[in-house]
Amino acid sequence: MKGYCPYGGKPLQKLNIALENIAKTLFVDDCNCLVCGRELDFEPRSGLCTNCLDKLPLNSGEICRKCGRILLNEADYCNTCQNNDRYFNVARSVCVYKDDAVKLVHALKFGGHRYYAPYMASMMTDKYLDEGFDCDCVIAVPLSAKRKRKRGYNQADLLARNISRALKLDYLDKVVIKTKDNEEQAKLGHAKREENVKDVYSVCDKDAVKGRKILLVDDVLTTGATASEVARVLIKAKAKSVSVLTFASTKYKVASENAAEEEDYEEQMV
Ligand SMILES: [Zn+2]
Ligand SMILES: [Zn+2]
Repeated sequence: MKGYCPYGGKPLQKLNIALENIAKTLFVDDCNCLVCGRELDFEPRSGLCTNCLDKLPLNSGEICRKCGRILLNEADYCNTCQNNDRYFNVARSVCVYKDDAVKLVHALKFGGHRYYAPYMASMMTDKYLDEGFDCDCVIAVPLSAKRKRKRGYNQADLLARNISRALKLDYLDKVVIKTKDNEEQAKLGHAKREENVKDVYSVCDKDAVKGRKILLVDDVLTTGATASEVARVLIKAKAKSVSVLTFASTKYKVASENAAEEEDYEEQMV
């Protein structure tokens, strides 16, 4: 008897709707391109039709050798990497944070589309292999408990879990935690970002990271201040190295280390 409930039927109906909603959040109904929604004959690793995949702004131009942000001049390093301590070895990203890359990040981060994570993670896994990264475990940049409660999940954690599974690397869950609920980085100019992330992360299991080559995963790298600060506490806890992998990174603009770049990002955050 479908939907039968000894207490009047409604609770089961409600449960069915709730389960349906959960299923919608977790799974794609059928195979559609994540960007344009076109129905696909087969399920591509990227989740994108060939048209959208071709248009995706891959981060394949001249990049800063350290943080991986695309550069508009021929320097080896961006000013931020030249003038600041960077505690990670290297950072690389699949895309430049613009156009459809922004759409994908927003859908995962703000749209509740958790099912985007395995597709985006598969592109990140390919990047890891292309770059010849050599890590032995994976850690996600943590959210504060308050923000995680509000969003229901940490998008970096979803990406990191999928990447660790694909690469058969240990996933170190809850080894780094965010101890303070600081101001959102996206709301701050560059100068304040370094200060804002200082001492907000903590390694709560030092044995787990000691001597290990860590792959640190996040969705977007903007100035690299967050990644560097998480790497700093990991290195302090005797991790051997930290390499950073993100789905996207913002473009580095030589002429404006601050204003334009940050404004672009903030606009896209809305
Ligand atoms: Zn498409
Ligand atoms: Zn750089």
